[in-house]
Amino acid sequence: MDDLQLLIDLHIDGDRQGPGGDDATTQAIALAGLQNLSGLKIADIGCGTGAATLALGRQLDGHITAVDFLPQFLERLEQRAGEAGLAGKITTLAASMDALPFTPNSLDVIWSEGAIYNMGFEAGIKYVHSFLKPGGVLAVSELSWFTNQRPAELHDHWMQAYPEVDTASAKIAQLENNGYSLLGYFPLTRTHWIDNYYRPMQHRFDKLLAKYRQTAESVAVVQAERAEIALYEKYADYFGYGFYIAHKVG
Ligand code: SAH
Repeated sequence: MDDLQLLIDLHIDGDRQGPGGDDATTQAIALAGLQNLSGLKIADIGCGTGAATLALGRQLDGHITAVDFLPQFLERLEQRAGEAGLAGKITTLAASMDALPFTPNSLDVIWSEGAIYNMGFEAGIKYVHSFLKPGGVLAVSELSWFTNQRPAELHDHWMQAYPEVDTASAKIAQLENNGYSLLGYFPLTRTHWIDNYYRPMQHRFDKLLAKYRQTAESVAVVQAERAEIALYEKYADYFGYGFYIAHKVG
């Protein structure tokens, strides 16, 4: 079994594959002013098994195309959508986020929680801009510094793992420089990271290690996650996910 399969096995049973929460998705919906609109065409990019997709499906009127490049996650999302009575509102699409098959100016909403880093934030917001209708909403969560200075250990870790990490003010400037106007920003909390994401994942470590019979690869994956969790627990005041809500101007 390869490394990708290991990551799939680690994450597929999670309610979510990244930090977040239904309350955060709901707050972003409110900041975007989407509650009372009807017939929305929505894409959820890097949807995983559908944490945000299902919250959007419950709260918004319209149709959601849920995009991920892992068909296994999409299968699980379809199952969850069926159980939630939302199957009719959600279509899955196996595609890479940098090769989306949407028509220019066709979407009212592009949602992406904890996923746009796979393209890089700036490349991602530039790329999806063309698919939004004028006035269309972009809502993304993205790794962000919460202060302008931080301990070297933390700085060095993320500059190596994700060099695009930056302050909210810098991310907002990138939105403003690329055809968007900001509607709102808020930081995700420890609850979104620890209770909703890390703790449930920690409970899956033993099962993963048993399934892989403690191979070096599986032990390394678990160790890397444990190190990331320890780093978050130590430095949560300095970094986390920022949720950015903007709309397309022009
Ligand atoms: N939005 C979900 C999942 C976040 S994890 C949630 O908040 O729970 C990031 C997701 O992006 C994973 O499901 C992963 O499979 C997907 N992904 C990573 N690279 C991708 C790419 N190039 N194209 C499409 N999806 C990608």
